[in-house]
Amino acid sequence: MFKSIMENGADRESALNILENFINTKLHNYVSKRNYDLGPSKHDNVSQLSPYIRHRIVTEEEVMTQAMSKFPLPKIEKFIQEVFWRTYWKAWLELRPQVWTDYKLLMKKNDKNQLYEKVISLNTGIDCFDAWTEELLQTNYLHNHARMWYASIWIHTLKIPWYLGANLFLNNLLDGDPASNTLSWRWVAGIQTKGKAYLAKDWNIEKFTKNRFNPKESDFSTIPAEISFIDYKMNSIKFHETRDFAWDQSGLLITTEDMHVLSSDRINFPIQNAYIMALTATEKTNYSKNVSKFKHDISVSNMKLLSQHINDIQMQSMDLDQIEQIVTWAKQNNIKNIVTLACPCGHVRDFINVLKTELKKESIEIIKLYRDYDMKYWNLASGSFFNFFNKAVKKI
Ligand SMILES: Cc1cc2nc3c(=O)[nH]c(=O)nc-3n(C[C@H](O)[C@H](O)[C@H](O)COP(=O)(O)OP(=O)(O)OC[C@H]3O[C@@H](n4cnc5c(N)ncnc54)[C@H](O)[C@@H]3O)c2cc1C
Repeated sequence: MFKSIMENGADRESALNILENFINTKLHNYVSKRNYDLGPSKHDNVSQLSPYIRHRIVTEEEVMTQAMSKFPLPKIEKFIQEVFWRTYWKAWLELRPQVWTDYKLLMKKNDKNQLYEKVISLNTGIDCFDAWTEELLQTNYLHNHARMWYASIWIHTLKIPWYLGANLFLNNLLDGDPASNTLSWRWVAGIQTKGKAYLAKDWNIEKFTKNRFNPKESDFSTIPAEISFIDYKMNSIKFHETRDFAWDQSGLLITTEDMHVLSSDRINFPIQNAYIMALTATEKTNYSKNVSKFKHDISVSNMKLLSQHINDIQMQSMDLDQIEQIVTWAKQNNIKNIVTLACPCGHVRDFINVLKTELKKESIEIIKLYRDYDMKYWNLASGSFFNFFNKAVKKI
């Protein structure tokens, strides 16, 4: 039995310790070693910060600033680039939210077949693949290279629908993220960038797992699976400042999409009322026990952290109806505006959209605030990643 990376801690202090340790001892070797997947509990070549960055327990900006306070940018450009991939994927999906809507529709098809069952019972006969399924389910993490190989075998060798694999990841990774996950699976499948699918190779797996696995050439397809490409049109949203509003009649809604609200430039602490939401009903139904527990635990530790800056914080009770709880909280505290940090495309945003309609009936408004960071970078994601990165890096 491997340990879940939940054991690394579910609070900001643990995240900051991991970040500091990574910068001081590993970052200088990141470029040369980051592609090696040495197996469960041996992922020291990479930061394993993703569960924290994904929920903004530490922010992308903080991670980059701290790394660059120790190393000049050219020396750690690869690491900075990786952190920007998250920002780019978020913005890309934000500009084409139909991709998320269509993914949810595909999931409704419920077309899990016997082959899918073989995957879940670690019985495909492809050793490396079964080992990664086991690692995913037990540790709630996979190395980036393993995620690429895994998705490739899933889609192009086993020919199981890509969205079922994406969903298995989303529900079991502590860093499970609607944008990074959905769009990475689409990229491997060859439907994110037209004509470019990712085909895993036996020699590449052998080399970058340091011979932990010796897969057969025949385990790998040399031809991408045929999946129809949809050219999603970009919407014309611009991410910009929200109008002014009165804080004295407002309450802050904190979600697991953006937890370190103290670092937001738009909120002047101390404030009177806040409500912390750990899990929406959809997430609670779908996410594995560990992922749900992680979201709950990071919410509890966040509540402790924030208690000095917010007079009255309420946390969601897991068993009661979410909408009802938030409406009651707002009414009891005479809240007219519920302010929340802008939440990217995904289950939480879907929930907020439903909540918005319900609150309207009570004449309560939801106001979303974009962080300066998001306004600075999300507007740059209309083209390819490298186009985005070249512009983004000049703005750091
Ligand atoms: C099929 C597939 C599915 C994926 N699903 C997810 C997901 O659900 N959630 C998720 O956070 N990442 C996902 N990734 C991206 C990436 O694999 C993880 O972010 C990374 O492995 C996290 O480990 P780390 O923190 O040790 O990364 P490091 O190498 O230490 O990188 C530092 C940080 O940069 C960011 N980052 C690095 N690589 C990527 C990337 N390719 N895309 C986006 N951000 C990146 C992360 O915030 C990460 O914490 C997926 C990649 C693939 C190929």
